[in-house]
Parts: sequence; structure tokens; C-alpha cells
Amino acid sequence: MAIIVQKYGGSSVADTEKIKKVAEKVVNTHRKGNKVVVVVSAMGKTTDNLISLARQIHPSPPTREMDLLLSTGELVSVALLCMAIEKLGYEAEGLPGFFAGIRTDDAHTKARIKTVDTRRIIEELKKGKIVVVAGFQGLSPQENITTLGRGGSDLTAIAIAGALKAEICEIYTDVPGVFTTDPNLVPEAKIIPVISYKEMLEMASAGAKVMQSRAVEFAQKYHIPCVVKSTCQENGGTMVTEVDFKEGAIVSSVTLDDKQAKITFFNVPDKPGIAAKIFGALGDANINVDVIVQNVSTSGYTDLSFTVNITDMEKAYEISRKLGQELKCKDVTADNDIAKITVIGLGMMNHPGVAARMFKALADAGVNIEMISTSEIKISCIIRKGEGHKALKAVHQEFIR
Ligand code: ADP
Ligand code: ASP
Ligand code: MG
Repeated sequence: MAIIVQKYGGSSVADTEKIKKVAEKVVNTHRKGNKVVVVVSAMGKTTDNLISLARQIHPSPPTREMDLLLSTGELVSVALLCMAIEKLGYEAEGLPGFFAGIRTDDAHTKARIKTVDTRRIIEELKKGKIVVVAGFQGLSPQENITTLGRGGSDLTAIAIAGALKAEICEIYTDVPGVFTTDPNLVPEAKIIPVISYKEMLEMASAGAKVMQSRAVEFAQKYHIPCVVKSTCQENGGTMVTEVDFKEGAIVSSVTLDDKQAKITFFNVPDKPGIAAKIFGALGDANINVDVIVQNVSTSGYTDLSFTVNITDMEKAYEISRKLGQELKCKDVTADNDIAKITVIGLGMMNHPGVAARMFKALADAGVNIEMISTSEIKISCIIRKGEGHKALKAVHQEFIR
């Protein structure tokens, strides 16, 4: 009998009517003879609201207690969905992350899954029950509750699907699949029926949100087939899988991320070991650095800028300010008025000229580029936040016809 893992995002369980609809979908899948494990997110904007509550009390809340707080959101959804399933006449067993065997490291608020012990889930499935697991949470080696970073319920679902060797992991959300860009920002965006793990990973890392990047990384590593679908539509969907590059679109998608911040060191000494010191300190604090630009040095000094996720800005700035004083820099600034626009496509590997087309599209739209970074299959530009939408429309129109 096939095991199917279904994940329902916050918008799919935003109120009790929606939870009842999800229960019907889950029960239908169960009635077709499948063993069903459901992973749920917190209802609607619950996680945002919990973060805001914490910040009203403490500007940078202790992360252990933050995880305790944030984990409650998903528990509410689990309990209510189980009740809705029982109401339809089927047995459901709701499990917090730690009862579902999710073990993580101790990096509170962005923990990584280390192991998944599926014994309890399998036991309940054997009893004929539908298992409902709280997404986004696990247990650290010190037996503290951890959370897996924003969007982390995707990772819970993928990891459970991998551990159970499920037939498929279905990610249900509020759009009908993965599009050439965010369909809520650019209505001309087109659905992508099949996408490679590699492109999906670049999209997610570039800030596409529709799947968490760590979840895609996990799916790719363990070859877990997954599909992204709308909760309210039967048809459509995007298969995320291993795909060989075929001639076709050079750029497959464009992503805008307005949750970035830029830190700049002015007049930093240009000598060996400085970058290692700065990025070493950020790494030790578990802060991911994205785009890095260092200017040409004049008289032994240079300017150095890098971007981080906006949620890490305060911590990164505090570390940088201290280092700036130590290194006798002229100034260290933090700027969260920026956005990152990224074009992605496997075809870029063999087709030169994509960068020039992207820069021209931005120039024609009157958008100034502040930083650039590239990889084999992507080009990212940092621009002003206020120009993000205009830039996205222009670049999408240039490449996706
Ligand atoms: P969920 O709550 O179901 O996890 P998310 O809000 O995390 O949903 O992700 C879905 C959202 O991702 C969509 O509503 C859409 O605005 C956004 N998104 C960004 N880029 C894309 C894209 N390329 N394709 C589809 N959706 C995208
Ligand atoms: N509730 C968490 C968040 O909002 C996890 C998730 O939805 O995937 O980030
Ligand atoms: Mg999500």
C-alpha cells in the first residue's frame, strides 16, 4: 500500500472552514487505499503574530523560548485537523514534531533535521489511522523544542516522505504550482509543469517562498519526488524532480526577494585575513551571507558589502559594528531598503549574453544595479526595494514570453 505525505501551508488551514476542506481532501486520499501522513503549518499568519508578540516583550527574544512559542502555532492546526477528520468518521492521530521522531541540531529558530525516527508514525498507520504531524518543529539533542526556519513545514514533509520512502510528497498551497515568477506579483506568470531540483533550489534560495530551500535541498539529496499543488484545485501542479536540460527557455524563472539587508564596511584595511575574520564571525553566529562585493582597493583600504536575510540584520550589524571598531574602519552601515532580483535557468550554462539582457532590461526600466552575483545557472542583482516590482515585471517580460 502506497504512503502519501501531504503538506498543507498556513493559507490552506487559515480558518475552521478551510480546515474542514483539508480534512475532506485527506480522507478522500485515505479512502482510495493510501496510507496518509499529513503535515500542517500554523493557521494563516499565526507565526508572524507570535513573532510580533515576542518582540513586544523583548527586542531580541531568547531563541529557546522563541521556539517554544512558535511551535504552538502548528500544534493548534494539528489538533483542529484531527478533530475535523474524526468528525468525518475516520481515525486520526495528531503528533507534535518530537513524537513524530524529528530530531534536530540545537540551532534554535533555524535548526537542521538530523534524523527522523518513523516508528511511531508507522505504528499508527498500521492501525489504519491518518497521521497528522506538526510541521516546522523538532527536538534538539538537549531535548528542547526547536523550529526549522521560516517555511520549515515543507522540510518536515519532505524529510518524513524520505524516511518513509513515500510514493510522493504533495505540497498544497495557495497557488496552483511553481510559476515563472510570483503570480501574485506578475499576473502574466506561467505555470512550470516540471522543474528540476537544481532550478527549484536556486529559486527557493533566491527567495521564491513557494518551497523552503532546505526542503528542496533535502528532496534533491534523497531523490524524493514532490509536487506543488493548489489546495482548492484538483488539476495542475508542478512536479519537482530530476530533469535533464532540454533546449528551450534559457531562463526559466525570475524571483524577487525584498527580505534582504545590506551591511557595508567603509575603509576596511585591504590585507589577508580580514574577510576571513568578518565572515568567520558571521558564520559562527549561524548567519548566512548571500551576495558579497569588495571594491578595488585604494591606498590599502577598501569598502566591503554583503547581504543577509532581514531577520539576521540586527545580529549581523551588531557583530559587524564591533569588528568595524576593532579593524578601525571609517564606518559600518546597515541598509534594509534593498531587494534582490534573480534570473534562473539551466540553459544559462551554455548560452552567453543572459547577463547583458538582464542589465539592459533593468536599465531600460530605469533601475540602478548596486551589487551583482552569479552562479552557473543564476544571476542576481541588488537594487532599491522601491523599484523591485518594476524591475521584476521588466526582467520577466524580457525572458518569459
Ligand atoms: P504556504 O503557506 O502554503 O507554505 P507560502 O506563502 O509559503 O505558502 O508560499 C506560497 C507563495 O509563494 C505564493 O502565494 C506566492 O506568492 C509565492 N511565490 C513566490 N514565487 C513563486 C513562484 N515562482 N511560483 C509560485 N508561487 C510563488
Ligand atoms: N509556520 C511556519 C512559518 O510561517 C512554518 C511554515 O509555515 O512552513 O514560517
Ligand atoms: Mg511556505
